[in-house]
Amino acid sequence: MTRKLAAGNWKMHGHTPNLAELQRLLDIHSNAKCDVLLCPPATLIHRMATMCTDSKLAIGGQDCHGAVTGAHTGEISAQMLADAGATYVIVGHSERRTDHNETNADIRSKAEAAIAADLTAIVCLGESEAERLAGSTIEVIEQQLIESLPSTANAENLVIAYEPIWAIGTGMVPTLDQIAEVHDFLRGKLREIMANAADDIPLLYGGSVKAANAVDIFNVSNVDGALVGGASLKADDFSPIISALDVHAK
Ligand code: PEP
Repeated sequence: MTRKLAAGNWKMHGHTPNLAELQRLLDIHSNAKCDVLLCPPATLIHRMATMCTDSKLAIGGQDCHGAVTGAHTGEISAQMLADAGATYVIVGHSERRTDHNETNADIRSKAEAAIAADLTAIVCLGESEAERLAGSTIEVIEQQLIESLPSTANAENLVIAYEPIWAIGTGMVPTLDQIAEVHDFLRGKLREIMANAADDIPLLYGGSVKAANAVDIFNVSNVDGALVGGASLKADDFSPIISALDVHAK
């Protein structure tokens, strides 16, 4: 069975007092069967990873550079994230693609750098509203997948997150059929590329996931979890999402 992952992306939110949210998750979900991940701002990674020692919860970065080291002021390498205690990193989030003009090729090199540093790369894909309305969703997803898939990917070091851009932070969610169409497509395409390993790669849905819609979304075929933004900031909001996924985990 593909492992299940509830992942939270705190984006540019979170200071020392917010460590209490992690502590609450640790208290509530110490026996979680699904994997649980929080990706806080880089400033909190080390402290949060220390809090998670010997727990079921993991900590990840929100981005990394494609190079190992060098003259890149303000950037953070995958090795630095690992050194701080991260075990995952998100790459290719649509906010990075938009705000920093990241291309599929950039994302592939970031994912390869992440894997080389022993991190699991969460590669984000997703269509814009215009692309959805034009009927080109699958075409867009296929191109993003092929062009950003790291050559070193395997079932242990890769997670794919399908995040329609128009659903992120908007309260709009695709229909369950629309989610199934993309996730089934992704599984099939990964099988073509990676054969049997494809069945063990978690496919996350992301975009306005809340406690109220998580149960239905987790029942969709080939959905192995969620990448959650706003609803991951408070333990009270994220906890029911984790619980909804937990019933699907071994
Ligand atoms: C995200 O940032 O990846 C995301 C899915 O955000 P939200 O859950 O707030 O829509």
